[in-house]
Amino acid sequence: MTFIVRNLQLVRDRITTACVSAGRQPDSVRLMAVSKKFGADAVLQAVSDGQRVFGENYVAEGVEKITALNAMLPADIALEWHCIGPVQSNKTRLVAEHFDWVQSVDRLKIAERLSEQRPADLPPLQVCIQVNIDAGATKSGVAPEDAQALAQAISNLPRLQLRGLMAIPEPAPDFVAACAIHTRARTLFDQINSAGGLLVAMDTLSIGMTADMEAAIQSGSTMVRVGTAIFGERAGRN
Ligand SMILES: *Cc1c(COP(=O)(O)O)cnc(C)c1O
Repeated sequence: MTFIVRNLQLVRDRITTACVSAGRQPDSVRLMAVSKKFGADAVLQAVSDGQRVFGENYVAEGVEKITALNAMLPADIALEWHCIGPVQSNKTRLVAEHFDWVQSVDRLKIAERLSEQRPADLPPLQVCIQVNIDAGATKSGVAPEDAQALAQAISNLPRLQLRGLMAIPEPAPDFVAACAIHTRARTLFDQINSAGGLLVAMDTLSIGMTADMEAAIQSGSTMVRVGTAIFGERAGRN
């Protein structure tokens, strides 16, 4: 068993344990493997153990990996690629043409471009709104109080399917503090769904990474985004 396959199994065990202690079904949380800064070979190892959902931060790096893997994998193995990094206007076309999901939409202008540029022969692009849930000064993400209006606007765009919210809170000092911040994201998610005004209710709350997936699951995450615990430490920042 490779390092990556063993790690993947440990992460699945962590998710199952966290679900059990939160009184949740283990299949109520999806695992995204964040493969940024790792090559197609690392992705293939995770694929060999059944992983199908992957996340990339950098658009050019992601598109290169998606293209390489499409050429390598048999047609019956379909991966689901999520863009989880900042999307500038000049990158929307690449994202719309290559990714299945974008979790980092925080402005209507970017969403409109993605909708216009989504190729007609592909299914709608699946979208999460990134929310700056702890008001980190330097962070991207829409302010929590503006998330509902953005959700309603995105829900009306023809080539996008609004799926939920994504947040990247700052590291918290302990489990209780981490749960408190993740719970804010869960509460906002529930409020937007129950406010009405969406064509289809959101089903995805994307919170939790290597360091805080247990707290996120305890607080109602439906998708965790895990890099380091699967692929190992990344070189350089991020
Ligand atoms: C890098 C990254 C992750 C994964 O972080 P780890 O701590 O390595 O698990 C998750 N989400 C986003 C948005 C990231 O940029």
